[in-house]
Amino acid sequence: MKRLIYLDNAATTKTRPQVVEAMLPYFSEIYGNPSSVYDFAAPVKEAVTAAREAIAATLGTRKEDIYFTAGGTEADNWAIKAAAEAYREKGNHIITSRIEHHAVLHTCQYLEKHGFEVTYLDVDENGVVKLDELKKAIRPSTILISIMFANNEIGTIEPIREIGAAAKEHGILFHTDAVQAYGHLPISVDELGIDMLSASGHKINGPKGVGFLYIRKGVKIRSFIHGGAQERKRRAGTENVPGIVGLGRAAQIAAETMEERAKKETELREYLIRQVLDRVPYTRVNGHRTDRLPNNVSFAFQFIEGESLLILLDSKGICGSSGSACTSGSLDPSHVLLAIGLPHEIAHGSLRLTLSEENTKEEMDYVAQAIEEIVARLRNMSPLYEDFIKKNACR
Ligand SMILES: *Cc1c(COP(=O)(O)O)cnc(C)c1O
Repeated sequence: MKRLIYLDNAATTKTRPQVVEAMLPYFSEIYGNPSSVYDFAAPVKEAVTAAREAIAATLGTRKEDIYFTAGGTEADNWAIKAAAEAYREKGNHIITSRIEHHAVLHTCQYLEKHGFEVTYLDVDENGVVKLDELKKAIRPSTILISIMFANNEIGTIEPIREIGAAAKEHGILFHTDAVQAYGHLPISVDELGIDMLSASGHKINGPKGVGFLYIRKGVKIRSFIHGGAQERKRRAGTENVPGIVGLGRAAQIAAETMEERAKKETELREYLIRQVLDRVPYTRVNGHRTDRLPNNVSFAFQFIEGESLLILLDSKGICGSSGSACTSGSLDPSHVLLAIGLPHEIAHGSLRLTLSEENTKEEMDYVAQAIEEIVARLRNMSPLYEDFIKKNACR
């Protein structure tokens, strides 16, 4: 049987068996509508409340501030569009960064077509938002700052506390896309000055198609989906009860296991990075070397195409991701890799590997060995590499 080494946990994760188990009864025996008044529906309503409480506890907040959504993308859309609408009288300026997920970037671009002005902040070579630029970008008309907690491609963790403080000082709302950070890093919304936070179930070993938006009490925010009275009338539609129960359980387990998991993943991450850097010349690590997600490894290999590398890794049973947007029909390297200043040709040779607690050191050895062989093979076919070697030999 072909070996499978799954190293694409930033794309999605395996749902934990305990999470599936918690969800199952809500598809079958306990199927009532949480809005119904009879006794039969009471345990359904209670399960939704328990999930909301479990999630609120992980962020140090109240259950009333957690709103369930259909995932991270919806939470990002809601936070940004509804805040823009609710605060339109105060101003029309939004600050974000160049390295946000498309759920944030494309939402901001949409708002630009509807009378809003958006500043896309540069990041440094490690992918860290420049705080002095952020402060300079603030105008009297700024109503919202939306900066991701940690980047999904290069793993860099942003200076959230400092951004929260700057936003608070100027009376500006602060939203963070924490889809990659939630469940992996400790987050206290009060300590960090976060007004809105997006998270997603399937990035934390929970189900797909369910997530939440945290909205601080007192933030004026409009309903996103109009209809019934669910989610305090702000997000109508019969609740995805099994999904919500699964998300709650996944959030709880993620919080309980966070410290140990982060330690294990960081060790594996560092081991893999060391192995690959030792074996493969002309390789760089993308993203901040220490302020990064415990499970994120991102390389750029000179003289090769990330897409070819991915296909050959797949033939060895290794699932990873490249830094280009080929799947979306474009050959441009990712906006994140370009924003950290990588030239096109180097950005094209990028590979993202995102680990889980289930990976082993032995797997990392296998992966490093596979990368070494494949990169050597691809470079041998590369005219660029040939030229480079010739030039160096002549020196
Ligand atoms: C995956 C991801 C999203 C989208 O979440 P979905 O639940 O898949 O819609 C948004 N932001 C970041 C940073 C992500 O990694």
